[in-house]
Amino acid sequence: MTLRSQIIESIDSLNLSLQRLSRSGHRGFDCKPSSLAKLSNWGVPPQLGSETLTGIQADLGDCQRCRLSQHRQNIVFGSGTATAKLVFVGEGPGFEEDQQAEPFVGPAGQLLTKIIGAINLTREQVYISNIVKCRPPQNRNPRPDEIQTCSPFLDRQLDAIQPRFICALGSVAAQTLLNSAESISRLRGRFYDYRGIKLIPTYHPAYLLRNAEKKRQVWKDMKMLMKEYPYES
Ligand code: URA
Repeated sequence: MTLRSQIIESIDSLNLSLQRLSRSGHRGFDCKPSSLAKLSNWGVPPQLGSETLTGIQADLGDCQRCRLSQHRQNIVFGSGTATAKLVFVGEGPGFEEDQQAEPFVGPAGQLLTKIIGAINLTREQVYISNIVKCRPPQNRNPRPDEIQTCSPFLDRQLDAIQPRFICALGSVAAQTLLNSAESISRLRGRFYDYRGIKLIPTYHPAYLLRNAEKKRQVWKDMKMLMKEYPYES
């Protein structure tokens, strides 16, 4: 028996048990046809491209799936166009982003806006998101369990957008998406495949603010991207 049919079988039996409990007067689950229909869809993986960003955001809701929800002001879902050919992925929101519910709006964000301009694009023409959607306290790195909980939402966003390119900003984004422990300085400078999308890792703009000499390498990475980016189509 495949994993998928095992899941469907367990959901069916859960569904029947809930209906039985409801009939015998138990409370706690309403057993309305709409609720049971929702239950039937659990475990069914969404088809590629079948979800919308709005639907994914609605499913995220007022997320309490990990401890980062306890300290955040706002969930920072992502911004830009749903038909972007290029998606930038950062690490996680900082103070400004948490306040404004927008990714990359603080000092690192201003530099990212310049980088996007340097490749002849605007923030409105790309999509920007992060590995985790809530600000880690004191801007610490997101922990593995937080990344594991949150990154399926990023994957669903990518499935909805179906971009041609991803630019992973910094080691957390690059290591997470590439499932690698290599440093960003070793990972950057070439393309990788991420679920059929060309991924280029580069330094994080916040790192560039502290290490201006690395801007040359980022420019090299951006030139590689520009060579392949479909500006015309
Ligand atoms: N740094 C990130 O990685 N993401 C943001 O949204 C802002 C700063």
